[in-house]
Amino acid sequence: MEKIRYERPIIQKMNTGLMNKFGTRTEFEPVTHIESVSVKSLINQYGSPLFVISEKQIRRNCQNATRIFKTRYPKVQFAWPYKTNYMNAVCQVFHQEGAWAEVVSGFEYEKAQGNGVPGNKIIFNGPCKTDEQLIAAARHNSLIHIDHYDELYSLIKLSEENNLKPRVAIRVNMDTGIYPKWDRFGFNFENGQAWNAITRIVNSENLDLVGLHCHIGTFMLSPSAYAIASTKLCELTWSIKEKFNKIIQYIDLGGGFPSANTLKGAYLPGSDTIPSIDQFADAITDVILGYGFKQEELPLLILESGRALIDDAGFLLGTVLATKRLSDGRRATILDFGINTLFTSFWYDHKISPVESFGKHTEEMVLYGPLCMNIDVLRESITMPLLEKGNHLVVHKVGAYNMTQWMQFITLRPNIVLIDNENNTHVIRKAETLEYLELNEQIPGHLNHNSLK
Ligand SMILES: *Cc1c(COP(=O)(O)O)cnc(C)c1O
Repeated sequence: MEKIRYERPIIQKMNTGLMNKFGTRTEFEPVTHIESVSVKSLINQYGSPLFVISEKQIRRNCQNATRIFKTRYPKVQFAWPYKTNYMNAVCQVFHQEGAWAEVVSGFEYEKAQGNGVPGNKIIFNGPCKTDEQLIAAARHNSLIHIDHYDELYSLIKLSEENNLKPRVAIRVNMDTGIYPKWDRFGFNFENGQAWNAITRIVNSENLDLVGLHCHIGTFMLSPSAYAIASTKLCELTWSIKEKFNKIIQYIDLGGGFPSANTLKGAYLPGSDTIPSIDQFADAITDVILGYGFKQEELPLLILESGRALIDDAGFLLGTVLATKRLSDGRRATILDFGINTLFTSFWYDHKISPVESFGKHTEEMVLYGPLCMNIDVLRESITMPLLEKGNHLVVHKVGAYNMTQWMQFITLRPNIVLIDNENNTHVIRKAETLEYLELNEQIPGHLNHNSLK
């Protein structure tokens, strides 16, 4: 048995007025393993900080979400939003589980092609497609989701000039009772813009309207918002059949289901409060099934769920660099990863666990990153055991948006390791080096020397 560590006695101030009536939970249960691989061995082998992804958990999440929707609706297709996590190994796990690719930029489109996703299984979203990218996507028979009139007009022109007939959908924005509305993307439902765009597409010789898309927000806590969105897309689908005798092949409800993270300022932990995927699936499929479509004309239901399928498959391991007292007496713990690495710490209070075992003494502390920048605060206030230099930590549910939004600033980005189904570990992205960082730098001749010898 490991020797119990000595902890200095402390006098603790009793605080009244706890954050909520349930009290604040202290996380001192050590997390020593991820998928039965020891955290310490991972850090010894691959360094600290370190991102770790569980392949098993991604597959569980995919299979669970697929089962939930397919038991309620006959035609379901998931598409993996690349921006959520575009490590190729991660994308391939989703593609192996049957997901198409959903991309929002030219380089993401090329990444999906590089991963062997056929053009007709790539959904091209977003407001920033260039003419060249639109032509390439049309040639590869991808699903182009039009965001605004300028894109609609150029696509009509490009298709005529190049003798193409791309398969398109429009992105529709709408009032779903969630504010602020995400009305900067797509065509508005309520003011008639969406119907106007549909009419233009149907009347153009060179575009084939095959679908309708919306993505009403992210980290959505209300299944009823999806019921409203589904109703509005069904209404358009129905009218298109009535007015133009055209059958819409698919309805794409985008992403936005929450992960079990806790939003900053939330009263209770996310894991206790977020609706389940079943509730979202009920809301969506009840509307579509109940709308009155003929069985053979039921649209394919596409979902572009991102964070809900990967957040809990990602972990960030790190190390305590130092502890100190702030001038007001609070304990400060300095870690080897900062907001540059854990970008989602801007909006989540992540669950953070120690790796070593501690006694029951805990203290409120501030967690800082290693950056020489005052805003590098990972947590303003967290109650943790008395961590010391060299102790390790595990941050939970970091699979979404960190490995794509991380910033290279002051420190270099760390290794990413995947734990496969047999618990073997693989580096899927190597830690950055100075050489990598300077790869694209060029130095003019008169600046390649100095006389500071
Ligand atoms: C970002 C995005 C998604 C994924 O959103 P999540 O909130 O991670 O599920 C899906 N569709 C579109 C169009 C997006 O921009």
